Amino acid sequence: MSRIAFIGLGAMGAGMAANQAKAGHEVRAFDLSAAALEKAAGAGCRIASSTVEAIKDAEIVITMLPAGAQVREVWSGEVIPNASPTALIIDCSTIEVATARSLGGAASAAGLAAADAPVSGGIMGAEAGTLAFMVGCEEAIFPRVELALGPMAKVVIHAGGAGAGQAAKICNNMLLGISMAGVCEAFALAEKLGLDAQRFFDIASKSSGQTYCPWPGPVPSAPSNHAYEGGFLTRLMLKDLKLSQQAAANSGAATPLGAHAAALYALFDGLGYGGKDFSALLQLVRGRLSELN
Ligand code: NAD
Repeated sequence: MSRIAFIGLGAMGAGMAANQAKAGHEVRAFDLSAAALEKAAGAGCRIASSTVEAIKDAEIVITMLPAGAQVREVWSGEVIPNASPTALIIDCSTIEVATARSLGGAASAAGLAAADAPVSGGIMGAEAGTLAFMVGCEEAIFPRVELALGPMAKVVIHAGGAGAGQAAKICNNMLLGISMAGVCEAFALAEKLGLDAQRFFDIASKSSGQTYCPWPGPVPSAPSNHAYEGGFLTRLMLKDLKLSQQAAANSGAATPLGAHAAALYALFDGLGYGGKDFSALLQLVRGRLSELN
């Protein structure tokens, strides 16, 4: 059993703190909202009257606050100056990479073990204890972080040093946002073209309407590991994107991402890479076309 201070008991923090209490830990909870404190008490947490009181003698301090401004205020003003020297402090909020790096640095300078560990999984994941944590911390303390997050987690992945958890979170969510916008555009165009949504779903989910890894390494069979040869040629992707734009224009569908993608692939093709797999676009956006020659 550990003594855990939990600061920030909102939509996410409420379920997360409850799961720590359920796992048998002594959870001392604090939030500015009286209603949030009452709920936490009902879930087996002990209520503190301030952050400083909650973190007194705590072995683990977890913060789950709205944004970078609150995390900076609570970490710089209360947690770092008052935490026990052997405490592990973890911020699970989603905040700017630069803020996470600077707070991680300030905690290390004060001799504290610290991590940024933003989550994916939403309120349902917080309640069920099935969140995915992306962790930025020194390699040596990751086992402690993994153990501390265990009762709230489905998976805990070490992303790298201070701030790397936040970096992984925003890259992942940018990918998610763009992918979802692309899926939305495709469904909207499918509708305009008279396709049944269920049938289009069945086709897209069983054919190539999903991407593969453009970065060499993680997926051995991907074209990125074979000099981007084979796969689906850039010039063919461009041809199809142009067709999609014609169809969109003819049918009145708005496909801004499709239009942008067509322009990107036209540039890539124009630079002489039409014969490479379309995932080689990675090297254009990285400014590393030389890796394709
Ligand atoms: P929320 O606004 O519901 O909860 C934040 C809580 O922090 C509130 O109860 C607030 O009273 C408290 N708080 C603010 N300042 C405080 C302070 N100085 N001291 C103590 N308590 C303070 O937000 P949330 O939805 O629980 O999200 C928390 C973090 O998790 C955010 O960074 C968010 O981006 C991230 N996140 C949210 C979701 C989601 O689905 N809601 C999913 C993934 C990540």
